[in-house]
Amino acid sequence: MGSECAICAKHQGIGPLVGPVIFENDLIIVTHRPLDQASPIPGYLFIETRRHTPTLATLTDPEAAAVGTAVTRAAQALQKELTPEHVFSAITGRTVPHFHQHIFARPLGTPPTIPWTDVDSWPDSPRTTPTALNTLCARLSTHFPRQ
Ligand SMILES: [Zn+2]
Repeated sequence: MGSECAICAKHQGIGPLVGPVIFENDLIIVTHRPLDQASPIPGYLFIETRRHTPTLATLTDPEAAAVGTAVTRAAQALQKELTPEHVFSAITGRTVPHFHQHIFARPLGTPPTIPWTDVDSWPDSPRTTPTALNTLCARLSTHFPRQ
Protein backbone atom coordinates (compact mmCIF):
# COMPACT_ATOMS: atom_id res chain seq x y z
CA MET A 1 0.00 0.00 0.00
CA GLY A 2 2.91 2.25 0.77
CA SER A 3 3.62 3.26 -2.80
CA GLU A 4 0.16 4.81 -3.17
CA CYS A 5 0.18 6.59 0.20
CA ALA A 6 1.18 10.26 0.35
CA ILE A 7 2.49 9.88 3.90
CA CYS A 8 4.56 6.77 3.11
CA ALA A 9 5.97 8.74 0.17
CA LYS A 10 6.70 11.67 2.49
CA HIS A 11 8.69 9.37 4.78
CA GLN A 12 10.83 8.49 1.76
CA GLY A 13 11.40 12.19 1.06
CA ILE A 14 9.03 12.25 -1.90
CA GLY A 15 6.05 14.44 -2.68
CA PRO A 16 4.34 17.64 -1.58
CA LEU A 17 3.98 16.68 2.11
CA VAL A 18 7.72 16.56 2.82
CA GLY A 19 8.58 19.01 5.60
CA PRO A 20 11.38 19.59 8.10
CA VAL A 21 11.90 16.63 10.46
CA ILE A 22 11.86 17.59 14.14
CA PHE A 23 12.09 14.13 15.70
CA GLU A 24 12.08 10.54 14.53
CA ASN A 25 12.62 7.09 15.93
CA ASP A 26 11.77 3.58 14.76
CA LEU A 27 8.02 4.08 15.44
CA ILE A 28 7.13 7.70 14.67
CA ILE A 29 8.17 10.83 12.80
CA VAL A 30 7.44 14.43 13.84
CA THR A 31 7.60 17.06 11.11
CA HIS A 32 6.59 20.65 10.47
CA ARG A 33 4.14 21.37 7.70
CA PRO A 34 6.06 22.44 4.59
CA LEU A 35 5.92 26.11 3.70
CA ASP A 36 4.39 25.42 0.33
CA GLN A 37 1.32 23.93 1.98
CA ALA A 38 -1.32 26.55 2.72
CA SER A 39 0.11 29.60 4.47
CA PRO A 40 3.57 29.80 6.01
CA ILE A 41 2.38 30.08 9.60
CA PRO A 42 4.94 28.70 12.06
CA GLY A 43 4.04 25.98 14.53
CA TYR A 44 2.02 23.37 12.62
CA LEU A 45 3.34 19.88 13.29
CA PHE A 46 2.41 16.34 12.32
CA ILE A 47 3.10 13.17 14.26
CA GLU A 48 2.92 10.11 12.03
CA THR A 49 3.55 6.43 12.49
CA ARG A 50 6.30 4.98 10.33
CA ARG A 51 4.11 1.96 9.75
CA HIS A 52 1.29 2.38 7.28
CA THR A 53 -1.73 1.94 9.52
CA PRO A 54 -4.97 3.84 9.08
CA THR A 55 -6.32 4.99 12.43
CA LEU A 56 -5.89 5.54 16.14
CA ALA A 57 -7.65 2.23 16.69
CA THR A 58 -5.03 0.30 14.72
CA LEU A 59 -1.93 1.51 16.56
CA THR A 60 0.14 -1.04 18.44
CA ASP A 61 0.76 -0.35 22.13
CA PRO A 62 4.36 0.77 21.48
CA GLU A 63 3.17 3.09 18.68
CA ALA A 64 0.45 4.52 20.93
CA ALA A 65 2.97 5.18 23.68
CA ALA A 66 5.39 6.83 21.24
CA VAL A 67 2.62 8.99 19.78
CA GLY A 68 1.41 10.01 23.25
CA THR A 69 4.86 11.05 24.40
CA ALA A 70 5.54 12.90 21.14
CA VAL A 71 2.23 14.79 21.33
CA THR A 72 3.11 16.09 24.78
CA ARG A 73 6.68 16.96 23.77
CA ALA A 74 5.41 18.74 20.67
CA ALA A 75 2.90 20.76 22.68
CA GLN A 76 5.55 21.68 25.24
CA ALA A 77 7.98 22.65 22.47
CA LEU A 78 5.42 24.86 20.69
CA GLN A 79 4.39 26.46 23.98
CA LYS A 80 7.97 27.24 24.94
CA GLU A 81 9.28 28.37 21.55
CA LEU A 82 6.28 30.29 20.19
CA THR A 83 4.31 31.32 23.30
CA PRO A 84 1.02 30.82 21.45
CA GLU A 85 -2.48 31.54 22.63
CA HIS A 86 -3.18 27.80 22.60
CA VAL A 87 -1.86 24.50 21.24
CA PHE A 88 -4.46 22.32 19.55
CA SER A 89 -4.28 18.68 18.55
CA ALA A 90 -6.57 16.72 16.29
CA ILE A 91 -6.77 13.37 14.58
CA THR A 92 -9.01 13.34 11.57
CA GLY A 93 -7.55 10.98 8.97
CA ARG A 94 -10.34 11.40 6.49
CA THR A 95 -8.17 12.12 3.47
CA VAL A 96 -5.03 9.97 3.91
CA PRO A 97 -5.47 6.54 5.56
CA HIS A 98 -2.10 6.65 7.35
CA PHE A 99 -2.14 7.63 11.02
CA HIS A 100 -1.25 11.28 11.52
CA GLN A 101 -1.98 13.64 14.36
CA HIS A 102 -2.03 17.41 13.93
CA ILE A 103 -0.43 19.57 16.66
CA PHE A 104 -0.66 23.27 15.96
CA ALA A 105 -0.21 26.60 17.66
CA ARG A 106 -2.80 29.37 17.64
CA PRO A 107 -0.75 32.57 17.53
CA LEU A 108 -1.13 35.04 20.34
CA GLY A 109 -3.65 37.71 19.39
CA THR A 110 -5.63 35.58 16.94
CA PRO A 111 -9.05 37.22 16.69
CA PRO A 112 -11.88 35.17 18.21
CA THR A 113 -13.66 35.18 14.87
CA ILE A 114 -10.92 32.97 13.38
CA PRO A 115 -11.95 29.29 13.67
CA TRP A 116 -9.61 27.07 15.72
CA THR A 117 -9.39 24.75 12.72
CA ASP A 118 -8.37 27.47 10.28
CA VAL A 119 -5.84 29.92 11.64
CA ASP A 120 -4.56 30.15 8.06
CA SER A 121 -7.61 32.30 7.35
CA TRP A 122 -6.23 35.11 9.56
CA PRO A 123 -4.53 37.48 7.09
CA ASP A 124 -2.46 39.18 9.81
CA SER A 125 -1.11 35.99 11.40
CA PRO A 126 2.64 35.63 11.87
CA ARG A 127 4.45 34.25 8.83
CA THR A 128 7.74 32.50 8.46
CA THR A 129 10.45 32.01 5.87
CA PRO A 130 12.44 28.88 4.99
CA THR A 131 15.40 30.09 7.04
CA ALA A 132 13.26 31.03 10.05
CA LEU A 133 11.40 27.73 9.80
CA ASN A 134 14.64 25.74 9.87
CA THR A 135 15.75 27.69 12.93
CA LEU A 136 12.39 27.08 14.63
CA CYS A 137 12.49 23.34 13.85
CA ALA A 138 16.01 23.10 15.27
CA ARG A 139 14.76 24.74 18.48
CA LEU A 140 11.66 22.53 18.61
CA SER A 141 13.81 19.42 18.21
CA THR A 142 15.66 20.22 21.44
CA HIS A 143 12.45 19.39 23.35
CA PHE A 144 12.55 15.77 22.16
CA PRO A 145 14.84 13.09 23.55
CA ARG A 146 18.24 12.65 21.93
CA GLN A 147 18.62 9.40 20.02
ZN1 LIG B 1 1.16 5.18 4.39
